[in-house]
Amino acid sequence: GSTIGILGGGQLGRMLAIAAANLGYRTHIYAPGMSGPASEVAARWTAGRYEDAKAVAAFAAQVDVVTYEFENVVVDAIRGVHGICPSARSLEVSQDRAIEKAFAEEQGGRPAPWRAVGSLEELNAALAEIGAPAILKTRRFGYDGKGQVRIASAGEAAGAWVAIKGAPAVLEGMIAFDAEFSILLARREDGSIVTWDAVENEHRDGILRCSSVPASAPIAAQAAEAKALAGRIAGALDHVGVLACEFFATADGPVFNEMAPRVHNSGHWTIEGAVTSQFENHIRAICGLPLGSTALVGARAEMRNLLGDEVENWPTILTDPTAHLHLYGKGKGRPGRKMGHVTRVG
Ligand code: ATP
Ligand code: MG
Ligand code: MG
Repeated sequence: GSTIGILGGGQLGRMLAIAAANLGYRTHIYAPGMSGPASEVAARWTAGRYEDAKAVAAFAAQVDVVTYEFENVVVDAIRGVHGICPSARSLEVSQDRAIEKAFAEEQGGRPAPWRAVGSLEELNAALAEIGAPAILKTRRFGYDGKGQVRIASAGEAAGAWVAIKGAPAVLEGMIAFDAEFSILLARREDGSIVTWDAVENEHRDGILRCSSVPASAPIAAQAAEAKALAGRIAGALDHVGVLACEFFATADGPVFNEMAPRVHNSGHWTIEGAVTSQFENHIRAICGLPLGSTALVGARAEMRNLLGDEVENWPTILTDPTAHLHLYGKGKGRPGRKMGHVTRVG
């Protein structure tokens, strides 16, 4: 059989490797460090830096198709990789918040009011325009709310600038949202797209806690508009694979937050809750296979992340016979670290 190369060896790589194995593919991981959540599942592991274009190219030459599960792979290192899915363009747009927001706007999306800022002077000017409260986010390398500082009033700008170490950033206005949701789709090279039901997401301290479908009424009312935007974004990028777009549901409709050119935490429920999981459809899309149905299996599904030491009582979770437990095989649960998740399908 063919071998799928995956850049990144975390839990997303692990679940991709499981889906690939179910379809008879072998997986070969490229990631820094000697092991990770994907290492027990993948057939091979190559340790290397994402900046090392030569090593990435040598890895790519050993596999039949290359994908990534990690957004912060270095774009220049994959630009030359033949047949990488999704393309370097998808990665380039999604890994920089300023490029991402501008791109979403070009496709008719509406992000929070935002400005790119490169100095404290620019931050102060942006804050004067956008107003407080606002959030300062580094343009790159943020996840789980890292690299973000909330600014309640103009006096906090200097401290916020220091807190993000003066990295290139965007300032965005705080959105008063009714709920948060995400749209996940899978797209093939021929342009065909399947989309899962809009997922309602609950975050705490910038970290996803819980995802559920079907989403509540305020989200359901604006899901079609968000789905249409996600489809336009995917089409404009010639995206191949899964694409996740996060939105705020507001009184004025969906506000685009960010996107990820990969499988996404808010899609983990699809493993048991949908006819075809996001992981399987990603593998199908990058291998040029027909996409599977995204229909719900039951009336509803709910996924809860197990963060930090929440994972320690995992045997208790299994006393609920309807709980589908996923543990990522990570050693230590520092606070907020994603250690596993539980899905219940009703
Ligand atoms: P992820 O792990 O999803 O990639 P991230 O670090 O990229 O997270 P964001 O999605 O930008 O972070 O923000 C995390 C959360 O913080 C959001 O889901 C939302 O709850 C809150 N948040 C972010 N931006 C705003 C905003 N402009 N207005 C209100 N809340 C916001
Ligand atoms: Mg993000
Ligand atoms: Mg997010």
